[in-house]
Amino acid sequence: MQRQEAWMGTRRAVLGAIGLGILVTGFDPVRRSWATDGGNVDPLPPLDGQVLLDASSREGVSQDAGRYVQKVPQAVLVPGSVRDIEAMVKYCVRNRVPVAPRGLANTTDGQGLVSGLLIEMRALKTIHRIDADRAVVDAGADWLELTNAAHAKGLTPPALTGFLGLTFGGTLSLGGIPPAIQSGGQVDSVLELEVVTGTGELKCCSKTQDRELFEAVLAGLGQYAIITKATVKLGPAPAKVRGHELAYTSSKDFFQDFKTLIKRGEISEIYGDWWRPGEHGEVSHLNAFTFHSVTKPPTDAQLLRGLTKPPADAVVSANDFLPHVTRIDAAVEQLREALDWDHLAKPWMTLWLPEKSVEQYVTEVVTKLTPSDVGVGGFVLLYAHRRTKLTRPSLRLPAPDGSDWVYLFTLMTAGAAGAGPEFAAEMLKRNRHLFDRARALGATRYPIESTPFTKADWQHHYGDRWPLLQKLKRKHDPANILTPGPGIF
Ligand SMILES: Cc1cc2nc3c(=O)[nH]c(=O)nc-3n(C[C@H](O)[C@H](O)[C@H](O)COP(=O)(O)OP(=O)(O)OC[C@H]3O[C@@H](n4cnc5c(N)ncnc54)[C@H](O)[C@@H]3O)c2cc1C
Repeated sequence: MQRQEAWMGTRRAVLGAIGLGILVTGFDPVRRSWATDGGNVDPLPPLDGQVLLDASSREGVSQDAGRYVQKVPQAVLVPGSVRDIEAMVKYCVRNRVPVAPRGLANTTDGQGLVSGLLIEMRALKTIHRIDADRAVVDAGADWLELTNAAHAKGLTPPALTGFLGLTFGGTLSLGGIPPAIQSGGQVDSVLELEVVTGTGELKCCSKTQDRELFEAVLAGLGQYAIITKATVKLGPAPAKVRGHELAYTSSKDFFQDFKTLIKRGEISEIYGDWWRPGEHGEVSHLNAFTFHSVTKPPTDAQLLRGLTKPPADAVVSANDFLPHVTRIDAAVEQLREALDWDHLAKPWMTLWLPEKSVEQYVTEVVTKLTPSDVGVGGFVLLYAHRRTKLTRPSLRLPAPDGSDWVYLFTLMTAGAAGAGPEFAAEMLKRNRHLFDRARALGATRYPIESTPFTKADWQHHYGDRWPLLQKLKRKHDPANILTPGPGIF
């Protein structure tokens, strides 16, 4: 999670050292390396920004939040404009150099790392406009920035992830799944995208314009195009949030109440969480939040009726909307200070589970967790969503089982300070084992995380969509240079 805002673009064709790093004059196709002199090189196109070659710029973007994969790019593009991205993608096609865009690098398995040219998307992070029903943002802007700016106008994006320090380009390439249960994912709230394809062409796409490309790019793991701008939905921001937290020692009661609350449809957000093993008696918690106006607060007894626990057992909270949706960002800041959280190894595992097996699988997993499976600074969470609101075909959900509900289960393991490659290797093995068990019960992977995946696994993951995706890859990234990290094509 390294913020690189300090790298601002300079003006066109300024190729000097400028105190920030060694700048490139071109790529030497014979030596397969970037060059700083005018020798036998394919010269760089004129740029508004910079291409950096120095070790500290390259090493600074060589890891993601997982902290166990390192890939040092040969060069870093700090774009001064979308035109720079178009020009450099064309240049990389010509020279067969792999390219990956980087947002805030919160993936955990090196999904956005690359040995070739890394594009620092945070260099372009303007919020272009905020209207009553939509916002237009650069892909490098983050959801926290838009949430704050929209809230000042009484508005909010409908789907907000638990943590908002994530870029538009990053979550729209993966899904962006919120604790809100009625909104679908962030990918479902996109009206239009501007992208640069793997041939360096600038395109706009939406449900009505080049829909195939639109649907391939949303939750498309950066495989077909680089998102440069997005138009996302906004709506009126709720004023207040009432929270209810219930603790459980019985998994059966937890799931019964969790499902009662989501199916009744009166609450706005829900998540389950589990204490780390050995802490506080291994208790699970149900956390429900209900958005409301100032004048019409909900009644606790009414919202919590018919559960296995009396309403009086709930810990009740009341908050304004903005501090509620930004509270995890504040908590992550505290973890960073207290634990040097950014530098801990985080081999996370995240899965979509169908209704038919969620209780069985989660119970099986959480009762066997050891302290190192979670770690200090780690979390175990469960979200719930309606299939009918998750509309993007590249977001792969469990096969239909007759229920409208699917569940996102995540084991956000954090290693101890100094935990090295052996720890990561052990956890990757664990993740694959947990994934295999889950897949046998109908689960799919949510690929923000660290489950070792082969090409055959990807083919299985995309199922009947695979032939179309192969065709779209050949069409939009025929040189196969975009975002090689996940190893799909
Ligand atoms: C504390 C925490 C809480 C989280 N909570 C949630 C949650 O509630 N729900 C949820 O769904 N996720 C959650 N995540 C996961 C998060 O959605 C992903 O890690 C996502 O990668 C974050 O965006 P980013 O800007 O860090 O993207 P990056 O990690 O930088 O990029 C992600 C992938 O997208 C590609 N990419 C980046 N920008 C672009 C672009 N402009 N065009 C095309 N491809 C691009 C990258 O190459 C990479 O492959 C959480 C993560 C953390 C650390």
